[in-house]
Amino acid sequence: MSVPQGAPQGVIPTQLLKGQKALVTGGNSGIGKATAIGLGRAGADVVVNYVAGREAAEQVAEEISGFGVRAAAYEADVSQEDQVVAMTQRMVEEFGTVDILVANAGLQRDAPFTKMTTAQWQKVLDVNLTGQFLCAREATKEFLRRGVVPEVSRAAGKIICMSSVHQLIPWAGHVNYAASKGGVQMMMTTLAQELAPRRIRVNAVAPGAIRTPINRSAWDTPDAEQDLLQLIPYGRVGDPEDIAHAVVGLASDLMDYVVGTTLYVDGGMTLFPGFATGG
Ligand code: NAD
Repeated sequence: MSVPQGAPQGVIPTQLLKGQKALVTGGNSGIGKATAIGLGRAGADVVVNYVAGREAAEQVAEEISGFGVRAAAYEADVSQEDQVVAMTQRMVEEFGTVDILVANAGLQRDAPFTKMTTAQWQKVLDVNLTGQFLCAREATKEFLRRGVVPEVSRAAGKIICMSSVHQLIPWAGHVNYAASKGGVQMMMTTLAQELAPRRIRVNAVAPGAIRTPINRSAWDTPDAEQDLLQLIPYGRVGDPEDIAHAVVGLASDLMDYVVGTTLYVDGGMTLFPGFATGG
């Protein structure tokens, strides 16, 4: 059977997020890049955050400007409190406010457990968990300051945490990463509970295996891809646009009643595919 491969293209309604201002961390590569572009295509003005790779970030901003919305590239290390505070303030000054935060920036520093250094552990926790905490906190201050503007959105703000299937699936050799994403899961639900009465919606997207630089070795040879497909019932590796579509949907008022949920976008990876024939 020949089945479509790759994420569906060109399906984003172009007025869905009109007038909203979105901040995407790590927006110059992989999932963040596709998400920033997707939000722009949906009509949002977009700040593309980057920590390294200014040129790539500026290219993403330029592509987004081509949709007739506003875009800019801002440098900040999400694990550094002063830089996150400055980035958020700058966005409020230059764009007027923040309506949508996509806390996407993340990295891996893999090692077998007994070989993992404290520096590897700490770096991943600092970026993947503390970085999301800092960005969410600063965005929330702005959401609360501004409140709901009904012509723009039914919510005062939307936070989408980029998690991973590894908030659920243990991952040998990646204890720092799995722990960071497990932390994101509990941070997200706790924030959702705390902030829902203020009309702030906090949700997460948990990607499965998506073709990006973070996991190149898992998909960039036919053998590696075949191995990976054993874990994916839907029979294709994900594309960054698959995640972008989920984020755009969650950020929009179409999903106004979705609060504190993790949307797994994983081709069924979390369905324990080994049990389809075993067990
Ligand atoms: P990627 O390496 O292409 O992108 C990661 C981005 O984060 C890059 O732009 C990088 O510069 C940025 N970043 C890293 N440290 C930063 C910092 N301190 N401050 C600001 N930005 C920083 O990888 P990706 O796959 O696009 O990853 C994006 C997110 O998706 C990550 O949170 C990752 O954990 C998550 N994720 C990816 C997959 C996948 O299969 N690719 C699966 C599950 C979850």
